[in-house]
Amino acid sequence: MDAFFAAMKDEYIDLATKVTAFRSFPGEEQPLADFFLKEFDIMGAETFRDGAGNVVAVLRGGEGPHIMLNGHLDVVPEGEQKNWEPYSPFEATFEEGELIGRGLADLKGGLCAQFFAFRQFVRAAKNGLELPGDLVFSLVTMEENAESMGMEYLFDVTMKEHDLKCDLVYLCEPTNGNLALGHRGKVELVVDVFGKTAHSSRPKDGISAIEKAIPVLNAVYDGFGDPADSHPQLGESAMTVTDMHIRPGGLSMIPDLCKIFIDRRYTPPKTTADCIEQIEAFIQRQRARDKDFVAKVYPRTTQRTCYTGYAKDMERKHPAWITERDNPFVISSFEALRSVGQQPKESYWNAGTDGSVTKGVHKIPTIGYSTAQERWAHQPKERVNVQSMLECICCDALQGLRNIAKGHSGLSGV
Ligand SMILES: [Zn+2]
Repeated sequence: MDAFFAAMKDEYIDLATKVTAFRSFPGEEQPLADFFLKEFDIMGAETFRDGAGNVVAVLRGGEGPHIMLNGHLDVVPEGEQKNWEPYSPFEATFEEGELIGRGLADLKGGLCAQFFAFRQFVRAAKNGLELPGDLVFSLVTMEENAESMGMEYLFDVTMKEHDLKCDLVYLCEPTNGNLALGHRGKVELVVDVFGKTAHSSRPKDGISAIEKAIPVLNAVYDGFGDPADSHPQLGESAMTVTDMHIRPGGLSMIPDLCKIFIDRRYTPPKTTADCIEQIEAFIQRQRARDKDFVAKVYPRTTQRTCYTGYAKDMERKHPAWITERDNPFVISSFEALRSVGQQPKESYWNAGTDGSVTKGVHKIPTIGYSTAQERWAHQPKERVNVQSMLECICCDALQGLRNIAKGHSGLSGV
């Protein structure tokens, strides 16, 4: 393995530095997608771009199991430049074993590890390795705005169009070298509270939407009077108000609309529908107490457009998901990592991932793995440890090997 690390170090730093230089914010991933398409071409893999701008590379195998390596192409903006000094967010710096730049932990560092793991398989296939199932490497768009637009398109449209199947997904979101098996669900809800305008010099002539919104705000901070739902692995549910809009606002007027934006995190078996029902029940109770109270609740939607021009109204939500710890793929992933001296723990993310599509919606076992540290996600001076990422390449390849090609050998260097 040491020879493998020595040979790979410069190549890894070179690729990760090039990839970091792309300001691939959601909807602006095209140049990075073009870059990877070219790299897969050079590698000699079957590759294509789909309607949502996702890049897919495929190594065809037999009847299964079919495995997908996955990461997202987009990153969050760098934020205040001063907080990065003396580094530059899009010119990666290698210093004391760490590579520093925007998106390296979340998740371009892991994506580069998966890239080299996938390349090992492509090379092995050229040398005669026959895979029992397909190995698909998907690099998706529009993950960071948390609606999984790229991943949804991949599984609803692209997989069928290209006759691809999937039995297991490895996400390269940062997991500190642990195996991440799920997270809570999220939905953003809007409560519209209505009133009646009047001149603000005569407030009693109107019905203030702000005044009528007060009981709603109190109820949110009181969890609508229900105990927080909790899950042994995923933790406790949470809800809070993230924004409010007043109409018309600013004039000498009593407002007739107050929009309250609620961020709600929930745990299984609860669903988005349950979260909406909880607030609808409150609206009914409040209406019985106050005949002037008029309100409605609905999921927040935003129109999103991929760089390809594909556009859709996306509900701002991702379902909760959990991959069972006794799933055979999970067991063999633990075995694979322990066989090379790693000590992975079972873990669960606080934030959301595209696993909401693969496991939450499509029920495909999904496992998160990357040696990148979750604490650096979205932070200034974001970084990865290069040695640990080189180990990550081996572990990505090894887990794939265990689960796709048990009994086969021929992956050079692993
Ligand atoms: Zn991410």
